[in-house]
Amino acid sequence: MLNIVLFGAPGAGKGTQAAYIKVRYELVHLSTGDILRAARKSQSELGKRVAAIMDSGSLVSDEIVNELVAEQLKSNPGAKGFIFDGYPRTVAQAETLDRMLSENGKSVTVTLMLNVPNEELSRRMIKRAQEKGRTDDTPEVIASRLLVYERETMPVAAFYRSQEKLADINGLGSEGSVLDRLIEAIDGASKR
Ligand code: ADP
Repeated sequence: MLNIVLFGAPGAGKGTQAAYIKVRYELVHLSTGDILRAARKSQSELGKRVAAIMDSGSLVSDEIVNELVAEQLKSNPGAKGFIFDGYPRTVAQAETLDRMLSENGKSVTVTLMLNVPNEELSRRMIKRAQEKGRTDDTPEVIASRLLVYERETMPVAAFYRSQEKLADINGLGSEGSVLDRLIEAIDGASKR
């Protein structure tokens, strides 16, 4: 089983690259951001609970996202693997993911860290705001999401680095050239 964690700041290109990787390796794409946005769109109880938190740029509680991921793992028993996008975002989430996978004798294969400088991240997110109208892509919320990333999510990189599962990837350049770097890292890790 190939379990890939795609890691990086908001705007690093996780969603774009996850879509390519999903097709190439026949994986299930698990984006907690997409699941939460779908919940909001359908105006479910969950959607209503998380809306204000998401619009402020803060993280939804570990309890809620861990539960969403557990449901996805359960509902895809025959999957060849998963590409996790936007999860885990805290060390507590990373520990929970390890536990959920190991209960089924599985583990994270590799964590790919997409590195993009902050100025470029802001530029991409402002462009995305114009194209997609995401409510959390305003300049103030972008700044706060970058801070939340540094404070709460960066420690997840150290968590995987200590397990020798972190691959640093340059996230600058064309979509195709970034994808080539990711593929090289995935193929290298899955041979080990
Ligand atoms: P981006 O990668 O651009 O930040 P996402 O679509 O991954 O966007 O996430 C959007 C928002 O959804 C986050 O700012 C946060 O409020 C919430 N969210 C998504 N994934 C998680 C997670 N794993 N833990 C907590 N909150 C999350």
